[in-house]
Amino acid sequence: MTVGIVGAGQLGRMLALAGYPLGLDFLCLDPAADAPAGRVAPLLTGEFTDRRLLARLARECEVVTFDWENVPAASLRALRRGARRARICPPPAALACGQDRVNEKRLFARLGIPTTRWRAVDSHAALLRAIEGVGMPGVLKTRRLGYDGKGQAVVRTHAEATRAWELLGSAPLLYEEWVPFDCEVSIIGARGAHGETVVYPLCGNVHGDGILRLTVAPFGTPRWQRLAAAYLERVLAHFHYRGILTLEFFVRGGRLLANEMAPRVHNSGHWTIEGAQTSQFENHLRAILGLPLGASAARGHSAMVNLIGHMPPRAELLAQPGVHVHDYGKRPRPGRKVGHCTLVAPTAAGRDARARRLLARLAVGVRIP
Ligand code: AMP
Repeated sequence: MTVGIVGAGQLGRMLALAGYPLGLDFLCLDPAADAPAGRVAPLLTGEFTDRRLLARLARECEVVTFDWENVPAASLRALRRGARRARICPPPAALACGQDRVNEKRLFARLGIPTTRWRAVDSHAALLRAIEGVGMPGVLKTRRLGYDGKGQAVVRTHAEATRAWELLGSAPLLYEEWVPFDCEVSIIGARGAHGETVVYPLCGNVHGDGILRLTVAPFGTPRWQRLAAAYLERVLAHFHYRGILTLEFFVRGGRLLANEMAPRVHNSGHWTIEGAQTSQFENHLRAILGLPLGASAARGHSAMVNLIGHMPPRAELLAQPGVHVHDYGKRPRPGRKVGHCTLVAPTAAGRDARARRLLARLAVGVRIP
């Protein structure tokens, strides 16, 4: 049974690695000939819009999924048309919604999921009106194609607003309040063929420069877990979803404000490979193939540290007891996620002590939440 993956980044690579024990084969599509999943699975090299290659994916795969949120939704819809109609999971409607911050916020509002206060912005005058309505400080964000903090500018003064407009104004935008959050969390869950769901323990996330640096799980209070899981279930049900879905939140004064959704396996869920009974990657495959979902309970207390820019010497990382290393085989570049480390401990205090040592060794200047 062959699973097609549109996008062959590290997420596609980890999906393939999770699928081989189940006897699955994979076929990926990516514009980059050296994409990480291409080292472990056959890769079709070409644009995401290449009709010929999309038709081949549809022909050769039982089901097609994607590993990047900016894959053109039209490409996935095209897969459903041809002579051999491919099954696409998760639903392209969820991908399309997540690609536009305004649509995403409107969906959250419709489903009764709290968000930041925001306004759509399509002119300098509209930005000034948005600032009046929402207040400062705020963040101006591109509606589309933003990830890892790209396409964003913080606005604290009117002068900064003008600069932000000059920087980003060529694309449709959204202005939202800056949230002085207590912490950031994400919730990850899977919905299977018959509407059954599993939800992982809440993740506590620390970002630097808009990029995820550290995740610890389980995290937060039972109330946060219940709230986040209930919001996730609403989005899963809304889309008749199949696969893994992630919601990210700001936590402020005990309230969860949804920041964004990712209709795919997520960086804040990498800890589940070693730290949960079934990894997010395996559960995504189980869900899209109509197999029973696996238990999502934590095996202990996990920390995941992203390796950004370059891979430190592997031996140095592995010299720390209990540290697992994932090297995505990517070329080093500033700000690029090239790998991650995970550790699992029997207690939260033990996990934090070991995570602190690992962060110090890696010279990652973040605090454990
Ligand atoms: P995003 O691309 O929207 O996920 O933003 C990346 C990161 O930037 C978030 O995880 C936050 O750490 C920070 N950020 C984005 N928007 C806001 C906001 N409105 N208030 C505070 N921090 C934000």
